[in-house]
Amino acid sequence: MSGILAVLEPGHKLSAETLSAARDLGAKLGLAVHSVEPHLAYTADAYTDALAELIRAKQFQLVLFPHTYQVRDFAPKLATRFDRALISDVIRMRVEGGQLLVTRQLFQGKMNAEIRPLGEPVFVSLQAGAYRAEAGEAVIVEQLPSVAATPRQKPEEKFREAQRAVDLSAAPIIVSVGRGIKEKENLHLIEELAAALGAEIAASRPICDNGWLPMERQVGSSGQTVAPKLYVAVGLSGAIQHLVGMKGAKTVVAINKDPNAPIFEVADYGMCADLFEVVPALTAAINAAKG
Ligand SMILES: Cc1cc2nc3c(=O)[nH]c(=O)nc-3n(C[C@H](O)[C@H](O)[C@H](O)COP(=O)(O)OP(=O)(O)OC[C@H]3O[C@@H](n4cnc5c(N)ncnc54)[C@H](O)[C@@H]3O)c2cc1C
Repeated sequence: MSGILAVLEPGHKLSAETLSAARDLGAKLGLAVHSVEPHLAYTADAYTDALAELIRAKQFQLVLFPHTYQVRDFAPKLATRFDRALISDVIRMRVEGGQLLVTRQLFQGKMNAEIRPLGEPVFVSLQAGAYRAEAGEAVIVEQLPSVAATPRQKPEEKFREAQRAVDLSAAPIIVSVGRGIKEKENLHLIEELAAALGAEIAASRPICDNGWLPMERQVGSSGQTVAPKLYVAVGLSGAIQHLVGMKGAKTVVAINKDPNAPIFEVADYGMCADLFEVVPALTAAINAAKG
């Protein structure tokens, strides 16, 4: 077997996360890491033909993709060429006894399924935020073979996702607020803490559903996926639909008055306290420390 192939989408920010995942697994499985960027005019047929040829020629054992719209379109077809299924939207991968185990969510994130892939190559697409995009060792860069044009499909103009006014996915520090804040009028406490930390503000779904903050600040399965260095969760319980959007955070600080709140299970630092006491004190302490 010749190793792991990370299939990267040029210019897509999830490509760097996919490369990090490939490096991580390469180190754990003792496999060489290769990458390829398809620069063909997009059709599912063209991508499938070119990648299938490369994977066959080099006998890759594991093929990783970012879970983008384009990957959703062609990768299942590519996997089928090899009599495999794409394991899609994977949130975690680990190695046990030399065997790869991948986790994906079921039922809107209510349940996690750990899958032991059988046969090779294994095709996996990774959920946004599943891995942190980190610089690492150089990888072997592959060139795509040229394939005959496929008259079955003709690419149309490229679809562009609507630009979000707020891109929380790039924020290094986020202060996120939940229903514990009780009223919109209390949000200034969160704004002041965020200003002291130089942070973006995010929220759980009920806060955005109430119209207290714009929808684009919602984090979770039906909101944005974020991976900041620091995520301060204030008065939010940590429902699974919220956790899937922020599990990529490097350090999580939780402030909640309920010691059994699930957010404490993912928190690196927890304050079991009333946010109306703790948040102003924290803001004042940070401002004092900054001088
Ligand atoms: C299909 C589907 C998709 C969903 N998508 C999302 C999503 O994308 N994002 C999302 O966030 N949710 C989502 N949800 C909703 C999710 O299930 C939860 O209902 C929601 O995350 C809860 O928000 P919360 O933590 O703010 O509120 P609650 O669960 O009500 O938690 C409030 C917390 O505040 C604490 N608290 C109260 N007062 C104080 C105080 N004075 N000081 C300190 N702590 C206090 C409480 O102990 C409690 O833990 C989705 C649900 C479904 C069914």
